[in-house]
Amino acid sequence: MDRSKLYRRFRTLLIANRGEIACRVIRTARAMGLRTVAVYSEADRDAMHVALADEAVLLGPARARDSYLNVERLIEAARKTGAEAVHPGYGFLSENAEFARACFDAGLVFVGPTAGMMTAMGSKSGSKELMEKAGVPLVPGYHGEAQDETTLAKAADKIGFPILVKASAGGGGRGMRIVRSAAELGPAIVSAKREALAAFGDDRMLIEKYVDNPRHIEVQVIGDSHGNLLSLFERECTLQRRHQKVIEEAPSPTLNAAQRETVCAAARKAAGAVNYVGAGTIEFVSDGKDVFFIEMNTRLQVEHPVTELISGIDLVEWQLRVAFGEALPLKQDEIRLNGHAVEARVYAENPTKNFMPSVGRISTWRLPAEAGGLRIDAGYREGDSVSPYYDAMLAKMIAWAPTRDVAIERLNRGLEESDVRGIVTNIPFLSALMTHPKVRTNAIDTGFIERELAVLTQAAPAPGELELCAAVAAILGDEQKAAHVQAGSPWQTFGWQPVGRRQRSFVFRVGHGPEQKITLNYGSGPATLVIGDRELAFTTAAKEGGFDLTLDGVKSAVAAVIDGHELYLRTRNGRFDLHWVDPFGGESEEQAGEDKIAAPLPGTVVAVLAEEGARLEKGAPILTLEVMKMEQTLRAPFAGVLQSIKCRVGDIVQEGVELAVVEPSGE
Ligand code: ADP
Repeated sequence: MDRSKLYRRFRTLLIANRGEIACRVIRTARAMGLRTVAVYSEADRDAMHVALADEAVLLGPARARDSYLNVERLIEAARKTGAEAVHPGYGFLSENAEFARACFDAGLVFVGPTAGMMTAMGSKSGSKELMEKAGVPLVPGYHGEAQDETTLAKAADKIGFPILVKASAGGGGRGMRIVRSAAELGPAIVSAKREALAAFGDDRMLIEKYVDNPRHIEVQVIGDSHGNLLSLFERECTLQRRHQKVIEEAPSPTLNAAQRETVCAAARKAAGAVNYVGAGTIEFVSDGKDVFFIEMNTRLQVEHPVTELISGIDLVEWQLRVAFGEALPLKQDEIRLNGHAVEARVYAENPTKNFMPSVGRISTWRLPAEAGGLRIDAGYREGDSVSPYYDAMLAKMIAWAPTRDVAIERLNRGLEESDVRGIVTNIPFLSALMTHPKVRTNAIDTGFIERELAVLTQAAPAPGELELCAAVAAILGDEQKAAHVQAGSPWQTFGWQPVGRRQRSFVFRVGHGPEQKITLNYGSGPATLVIGDRELAFTTAAKEGGFDLTLDGVKSAVAAVIDGHELYLRTRNGRFDLHWVDPFGGESEEQAGEDKIAAPLPGTVVAVLAEEGARLEKGAPILTLEVMKMEQTLRAPFAGVLQSIKCRVGDIVQEGVELAVVEPSGE
């Protein structure tokens, strides 16, 4: 076929994807002066990729089948917006030959290989046959047509156990079983076939020798329509969970220069066997010494940024230039490897609950700035919702440095400085991985995470002195902020230090652990905190996302998020979730589900912290009472509107008197 029909200049690009990869592609397309069109489902109306693109088209209902996988709707969206080309991202339709063909038939440039190349490489069996002919090293195995039990059993016997039974059409680790003895083979094939049929509509199996202590090594390749084909070094993706990558790095710390050249040459040979056009990845499994081809992915991969950071090449830019019909701008000997890069996949999931996906609204999204070798490819922002319909990857954090050790340090620091709340994320788990001594020394294999799970998902440490003091400081800071909003409040004049020595007690709890009490002494003279028999002087200075806490002469940074009675703190000792047990405040009211904000004991109103008519989050401070020389802040028992305040600063009120009324917002 005349390739100028397939690959030619265009000005408008439709991105047939969502999340971080759609945002990533839009960023480069924009920089190249292209107009961008996003597509979205009903669940993604307010998604980040929709906001970033120049135009956006609704595809249909949330279910992927009705939206992102609907070829007809995608082609229609391109027609409506005048898009001339389609970038498929990864996942969804990115390796679907029928979609590539449909784009071509509709006169659209498909940013990727031809449908024919995809078909040739799409099947693990078919591609292995091709690779065998091309002289690419394979894992010993069987990838023939015959699928009867006797043939498969004979093949397994010949290869020798342990073996791996794999769906030829497989992906994402599905339809795959490790078999250690002949007796296990029959049942393993039956269940792998069942899974493969359900997932891919194809239950053909192949058998491979199971490589012991395997490592995953893959090579990035890219070809143009003029017959040029380059390899852009390798990535190591050995840190996997259930055959899914978690951490990826480039170059591989396992290979020496000669092995690197061997694996890259093998990858060029593999891609050359189909005269490959576009970006692709040749995947190998390795025993640490030799590499064996397992499959080719005919698309951009999630982990492409590590290659970009060590090669200085923008792979999406090169994909688009290849799609324009241009020749690749560099020759193989002009590609330079510089430094080391590591990537971590940030997921909305709970590692302590078997990695269950977490859905909901992202109430806090604080990631460090992209500086000092750190890159962040995100698909979500603060306030966005994570829906149950799609992959739960939120973002990728990637660090570059001249050496592997420093790149890991930078990535770990970036993870440690990230605060994402509202949903559960795997960030602490990723941090635990990055600090594990065996990861540091590259003493890993693909089974590492499963074996070390207990260590990697260890419970957070119990809060110490620093955390309890930080919790008090966070609450005071929060109340002070609320007081400043309230014009004419006495807090504005005096801060939280009225005249005379006062006391206020706080009780915190972690999970179902014991209650811990801390007392604040304030008033004339510097404020102190008392824990047990220790009295500590402290000061705080607010800053973005938290404050600096100076405790006993040592200043350290604290990140804090307060959500009603739930406090989240990050100190130099790690991450802490504390529950604030407020004996007079919202707690009992919350539990009773009452909307009455009343004086728990006779006292004096010392501050009014919210205005009538204000919208209040659950737990928002409303007013402060002084009761028996102790201050208590009364809080909204639920989200709502502050209807009225029935008292004024200075009022002396009796027990049980209603002081304010909040109208629930009905959420
Ligand atoms: P999928 O397409 O489902 O991701 P792959 O064939 O790419 O399946 O394999 C996924 C992972 O399974 C690899 O990264 C590797 O960790 C492991 N694996 C695959 N083949 C072998 C093998 N022959 N021996 C040991 N591990 C393997």
